[in-house]
Amino acid sequence: MLIKEVIQYLESIAPPQYQESYDNAGLIVGNANWEITGALVCLDSTEDIVEEAIDKGCNLIIAHHPIVFKGLKRFNGKNYIERTVIKAIKADVAIYAIHTNLDNMYDNGVNAMIAKRLGLKKTRLLAPKSLLKKLYAFIPVKSIDKVRNSLFEAGAGHAIAKNVSYTGIGAGTKNVTGEAVAKLEVSFTVDLQYKITSLLENTLSKSIISYDIVAIENSLATVGSGMIGKLPTAMTNLQFLSFLKEKMNTTCIKHTAFLDKEIKKVAVCGGSGGFLLPYAIRQGADIFITADYKYHEFFDADGQIIIADIGHYESEQFTNELLYGLLKQKFRNFATQITEHNTNPVQYFF
Ligand SMILES: [Zn+2]
Repeated sequence: MLIKEVIQYLESIAPPQYQESYDNAGLIVGNANWEITGALVCLDSTEDIVEEAIDKGCNLIIAHHPIVFKGLKRFNGKNYIERTVIKAIKADVAIYAIHTNLDNMYDNGVNAMIAKRLGLKKTRLLAPKSLLKKLYAFIPVKSIDKVRNSLFEAGAGHAIAKNVSYTGIGAGTKNVTGEAVAKLEVSFTVDLQYKITSLLENTLSKSIISYDIVAIENSLATVGSGMIGKLPTAMTNLQFLSFLKEKMNTTCIKHTAFLDKEIKKVAVCGGSGGFLLPYAIRQGADIFITADYKYHEFFDADGQIIIADIGHYESEQFTNELLYGLLKQKFRNFATQITEHNTNPVQYFF
């Protein structure tokens, strides 16, 4: 089996187009056409992880964080990034990162995993993304079924429910065929735009008169940042922090002042989620759980919410189990393993 089959599966769960602009998710080292010998799942692909992959006979590392974010100009091994990449290339070990594209998924994403561990109910994305486009295609009436079915097959019309389209029949002022014209409206997610325009320009070019594609502001309920949900039963502030500590396996929580109310509505964002604080406040969360808060940013809680910083690694550590579970369920012809290393660079002294 080839590495690309594993990548295709992972990208069906978290399409790479949904990663943030600063990100570098995808295949960073190696060749997708290599035969896979085993996969090692981790949060950070460090030198130790490459070493572990070699020892375990895995030629694919699946990491949450990309080891390379910016262009590398030298390969002298002067820092851990260069050394990790050099080691992986020398040993024919591929490194694949599934990062903010996985953060942004409602299903099977990083935040869904946190929400599940905390037992949150009625979850929804804190900041859903606007990733929809609409196609207006003008089609001779006789070709409408053919065009509609081809678009559905290409993935259009499934953003909200299955096979959704609208057709209106009217008269065009410049209808080259001289026949009645149908206007077909169908939405699709931005990642499909190239596929759809190629279809319209090539296979369907003789079956349509013209088309327009426009961006729409509606947001998707399935792609976006952070998550908010409700606890089955309200807890006192202290009860909740103990519960959080246990469920997220963390030794230390930095938090702002308690509010004079119980905790029921909980907002979460694995990793550096500080930018979502206004969304959490607006949606009435009692507490916002994330990581990487700086001193001054804690003031932004401003008596409206509790900010709880549980640590970056701690907030994302169960992503390993998430990826392991997905791969194990899908593939039985190679071994997937979770790293035995704790790659958290932050240590605590009590
Ligand atoms: Zn992270």
